[in-house]
Amino acid sequence: MKFVYSFGGGKAEGSSVMRNLLGGKGCELAEMTNLGIPVPPGFTITTQAWAHYNRGGRRFPEGLWDQALEALGRLEKAAGLAFGDPQRPLLVSVRSGARVSMPGMMETVLNLGLNDRTVEALAARTKNERFAWDCYRRFITMFSSVVLGIRRDAFEEHLTALKTRLGVATDPEVPGEELRKLTEVYKDVVAARTGSPFPQEPQEQLERAVRAVFDSWYANKATEYRRIHDIPADWGTAVTIMAMVYGNLGETSGTGVGFTRDPRTGEAQFYAEFLANAQGEDVVAGIRTPEHIDDLKRRMPAIYEELLTIADRLERHYKDMQDIEFTVQAGTLYLLQTRSGKRSARAAVRVAVDLVHEAVIDQHTALLRVPPRELGKLFLPVLDPADKEIAVAAGRILGRGLPAAPGGAVGHVVFDADHAVELARSGQKVILVRPETSPEDVAGMYASEGIVTSRGGRTSHAAVVAVGMGKSCIVGANDVVVDEERRVFMAGGRTVREGDLISIDGDTGEVLVDEVRLIPPMLTDEIRVFLSWADNYRSLGVRANADTPEDARKAREFGAEGIGLVRTEHMFFAPDRIAIVREMIMASDTAARHVAVKKLLPFQREDFVGIFRAMDGLPVTIRLLDPPLHEFLPKYTDLLEEYTRLDAQHMERERLEALMAKVRSLQEANPMLGHRGCRLGITFPEIYGMQVRAIMEAACSVASEGVQVEPEIMIPLTGTVGEMRITYEQTKKVADGVLAESGVTVPYLIGTMIEVPRAALIADAIARDAEFFSFGTNDLTQLTFGYSRDDVAKFLPDYLQKGILQHDPFSVLDQEGVGELVRIGIERGRRTRPDLKVGICGEHGGDPASVDFCHRVGMTYVSCSPFMIPIARLSAAQARIRARNMGEGAAGA
Ligand code: PEP
Ligand code: MG
Repeated sequence: MKFVYSFGGGKAEGSSVMRNLLGGKGCELAEMTNLGIPVPPGFTITTQAWAHYNRGGRRFPEGLWDQALEALGRLEKAAGLAFGDPQRPLLVSVRSGARVSMPGMMETVLNLGLNDRTVEALAARTKNERFAWDCYRRFITMFSSVVLGIRRDAFEEHLTALKTRLGVATDPEVPGEELRKLTEVYKDVVAARTGSPFPQEPQEQLERAVRAVFDSWYANKATEYRRIHDIPADWGTAVTIMAMVYGNLGETSGTGVGFTRDPRTGEAQFYAEFLANAQGEDVVAGIRTPEHIDDLKRRMPAIYEELLTIADRLERHYKDMQDIEFTVQAGTLYLLQTRSGKRSARAAVRVAVDLVHEAVIDQHTALLRVPPRELGKLFLPVLDPADKEIAVAAGRILGRGLPAAPGGAVGHVVFDADHAVELARSGQKVILVRPETSPEDVAGMYASEGIVTSRGGRTSHAAVVAVGMGKSCIVGANDVVVDEERRVFMAGGRTVREGDLISIDGDTGEVLVDEVRLIPPMLTDEIRVFLSWADNYRSLGVRANADTPEDARKAREFGAEGIGLVRTEHMFFAPDRIAIVREMIMASDTAARHVAVKKLLPFQREDFVGIFRAMDGLPVTIRLLDPPLHEFLPKYTDLLEEYTRLDAQHMERERLEALMAKVRSLQEANPMLGHRGCRLGITFPEIYGMQVRAIMEAACSVASEGVQVEPEIMIPLTGTVGEMRITYEQTKKVADGVLAESGVTVPYLIGTMIEVPRAALIADAIARDAEFFSFGTNDLTQLTFGYSRDDVAKFLPDYLQKGILQHDPFSVLDQEGVGELVRIGIERGRRTRPDLKVGICGEHGGDPASVDFCHRVGMTYVSCSPFMIPIARLSAAQARIRARNMGEGAAGA
């Protein structure tokens, strides 16, 4: 089996299409080589080799090492150097490369091939002793930390001590002779920690580095990153070995990272940072803050032009914005990497729309380019400009940094990632403030509202990861001086303690003390255009779950084509109603209940009038009362507490006793499986009767104002033909009665939720009465799995961690089980009514994968929360494009 693919000298064995085998880095280096772009020669060990290694008890598969040595021979030839050669030594970098980029998650070793002899040759060849020893001591540090498991601090502390002794502040001020001595100290550290000398044999160094890179796939930080980003564990990593080029050879050398467009805004302008006389690791680790790319333009105009030309060429070749890494070695430019650039949500939309306008890609491609959840981030909050102005005027700006990821965030300051996770779990909003971040901090970053680092550039770890996560982020905030020990930071003449509130503006880089109000962002023209394309392509409707006129207006603004679920019980909790609701529940007989119910009628009518007006011309699905009645009464323990406080003569005692008796009588062992949904409507027809009357009276009243209404009255939790028949007939009688009284014609439908597995199985019979279906996949998931919606958190983390479940089935629809019931329900329902309108109103309606499923099973619409509407619109468009690309043919065409 072929495990190794070479590239170099303008020819490569691999190409872009071999991403799964060669990893992102390896395949693009091959592709660039074939395009004639200057890339140092090298070779890539495949992910298949990793898979064999991993399955074979961490042993190299047969033939791998021979092939690697052969490729090494070719590399030596291409570079005109030899591995371990005392005169012309070849030095290489060893880098990981999964099929998707996982910034900073896995290991890299630079300057491999250095030893006590080759370091002298490097010094002689570069005529730069200091440089050679600097490389060697860096190599020992890196190799030791990656391969030998010795923490970097074990070396760094000696460097720090040396600088103190020499009275210098920065590394470049340490002379070569001192670095030579320091290297001896480093080697002693290795010998003391491992019991063996630092490995001198380059081939041994290479073999051990390759193993370490293979193994780094299972390092904790990489595993955590995969979990957050949903990357399968069995993809594995490739390893790319490439001739070293040096950005730290002097003033005509340097290193940089760039994006072909601005990754924050998507603006079509080269966005890069450059650091003269430095190695890439300095920039990526945020150890030194890089300069604007204009620094390169000033120092080396010809190289700058060459770089721009290459960037442009790469973007046109890949038809997408690229993220490139480059090094200038003594006046020669080399590209070390290109990949599709990570970008903010706003940039994703802008780039997609611009590329269509530039005729680089078509609309289908553009729509598939933006992950729906990314689009959702555009609906993230930003700091309210007016409130911020007040804060600025009041001198509340603490400091400024580089705006690295857009959006605003407000939270309590926390200084370490673990604490961030802990506090976030307890429901606190936190902002992680650190000198810099490293991959170990990823979980904490994820748990935080936003991130601030005092060091690092816009391409540092914190920046790149935050942009990917859609978290507001500020980096390089030099004014923010973090004292981790005392758990405070000093900025703007103030001391901010852990737990204090701050606000950050990821669009400007400002850090402010105290809370600045957050508001949802405005939709830009690009977003509107983009979403209008999505609407043109999708066949699946998108509705919102909304319970109030405000929510309904918001939903409409975001593009909802109707309301798929009004949960009427939410209206019952309003302070002016709950007393009447309790009166209704406490009623000892039907007559008393009628009295209370009558009092509720005007309130309900008013609610519906507001919603109907907001949704003029669009359908509104209103669900009749669903939850068990005890939810509207106080908790028994609270009542008991109150009761025990009253003395024996207190007049309240009797009322409380009655209430307690009622609460006791409503207690159920399993309320979710108890007296709720249509079961309530059947035992207390007057409650449903009142709701239907309120709906229809509201409809008639707004219809006479000229509002176009389409009420869809929905019965919850039906599971038998009898339930459907009785509730249908009751509803129809009241509704037609109201229409006759008012003399107005309003078209309306009576349908049901499909939430009980039995309902899905007998959907053909249910559809004899039900005029539409809406899958309540929250309850359907609960009842199909037998997992209580309210208690699932007790075991879900364990299930996810052990791989028993891939996702939380309450947020991502379980297509195999619950989905099968949905499919059956639709198919059987349409046997009875071929034109049956079918929707979904569980939380899954805003999940991209679930929306894709809903498209495939032929639903009419999905319904989700107003903020999810854009996600659903794009997901629906993508679902149709994907289905068509796969030859869907007739469906939805
Ligand atoms: C459902 O069960 O999916 C649903 C939408 O209803 P609720 O969440 O109100 O039970
Ligand atoms: Mg339900």
